[in-house]
Amino acid sequence: MAYKAPRGTRDVLPDESWKWQRIERVFRATADRFGYREIRLPVFEETELFARGIGDATDIVRKEMYTFTDRKGRSLTLRPEGTAGTVRSFIEHNMGRGARLTKLYYFCPMFRYERPQAGRYRQFWQWGLEAIGSMNPAVDAEIIHFSVDLFESLGLAGAEARVNSAGCPTCTPAYNELLRERLGGKLDQFCDDCKVRYERNPRRMFDCKNEHCLELLEDAPSILESLCEECAEHFASVRKHLERMSVRFVVDSSMARGLDYYTKTVFEVHHEGLGAQSALCGGGRYDALVEELGGAPTPACGVSSGVERLITALTDTGVMTGTEPGPSVYVASLGSEAALAAAAVIAELRKSISVETDYQSRSLKAQMKEAGKLGAGHVVIIGEDEVARGVAVVKNMTTGEQNEVAADEVVAALLVERLASTQSDK
Ligand code: AMP
Repeated sequence: MAYKAPRGTRDVLPDESWKWQRIERVFRATADRFGYREIRLPVFEETELFARGIGDATDIVRKEMYTFTDRKGRSLTLRPEGTAGTVRSFIEHNMGRGARLTKLYYFCPMFRYERPQAGRYRQFWQWGLEAIGSMNPAVDAEIIHFSVDLFESLGLAGAEARVNSAGCPTCTPAYNELLRERLGGKLDQFCDDCKVRYERNPRRMFDCKNEHCLELLEDAPSILESLCEECAEHFASVRKHLERMSVRFVVDSSMARGLDYYTKTVFEVHHEGLGAQSALCGGGRYDALVEELGGAPTPACGVSSGVERLITALTDTGVMTGTEPGPSVYVASLGSEAALAAAAVIAELRKSISVETDYQSRSLKAQMKEAGKLGAGHVVIIGEDEVARGVAVVKNMTTGEQNEVAADEVVAALLVERLASTQSDK
């Protein structure tokens, strides 16, 4: 029987994994510049944590969780997102002592039982930030700035933040009533999920993936008109900060996020090139969550983002195309004596640079072809004749120039050549 990767999961093969490594590197460097530190969370948590933290009315909790019972009968769930676990850890380790702002990041896989389609998987990766312990709208602006900065640092031009406010428990009850009032008359035209949302939390209807439902919502009232004074001021301040920081954004009053815990600021960063799944990241403020999960009342703000979607955006826009940069040097040899001489050169070179070679006793011509295919910068050729004369040929693959070098000078000659070519690249 031939096994296949489970539905909704995918292997990241070496042709693509270099893109992942680059994103992770740039992400960590950006997190460093913005003062966020890494948290590594368990892959599974108690189911109750997500049910409470994400919200019973959300699609995630209602139908997308990978929940199982362990041998002692405990209900556990593979993490569908990173905020609930981060907050659980924040409380468990009393990170808020001293009233400091705690700034954390994660980069890890999440699990959701969704219908797989382009840009939607059952195991997918997210990077995320959480800043726990401040009401300051400047923190919201910092997180939005981070998101836009990261995409720009990766070379993705044209990413735009869409910001909105989700209100707070003071202003949302009246808004929910207003929505029920306006939408009640056409409720029978909405999908079954929206009918449930209408009862439980009508703001969730904006998060529906059904085109027809979204059309029906087009003339629904905007939450921005129902905000209480505190939420309105907070939102105005976030916008002012973003303007002063020259972060590209638009206000999108129809935006709702798929998680129940958001209060005040919510935002997404979109990239046009992505079509229906254009959101690169989403986040916002969750001032009630820490208390909801058993901690002291602590305001917080965060963002999370799908890595697969980012890779699609970077590939489709031509920012990350082709293959991984090739090895610095390819060592080609012919015959067993030459292979031994090559082994010595390779071992020495690998102390400082990347080297590839042939282990399948192919012809020199085939080895040269492979060196070209891999994109090696230089090739060292050691044939039987070279071994007999105690020399090797060093070929620069960019210029085509080649020189014969004494065997014991190959490494030094190559290092000098590599240095010269990296300097001329600058
Ligand atoms: P959410 O946690 O639902 O707010 O999603 C945050 C980000 O994660 C989205 O903007 C997507 O980029 C990504 N994402 C969410 N669900 C999936 C999925 N099933 N497959 C791939 N990426 C996803």
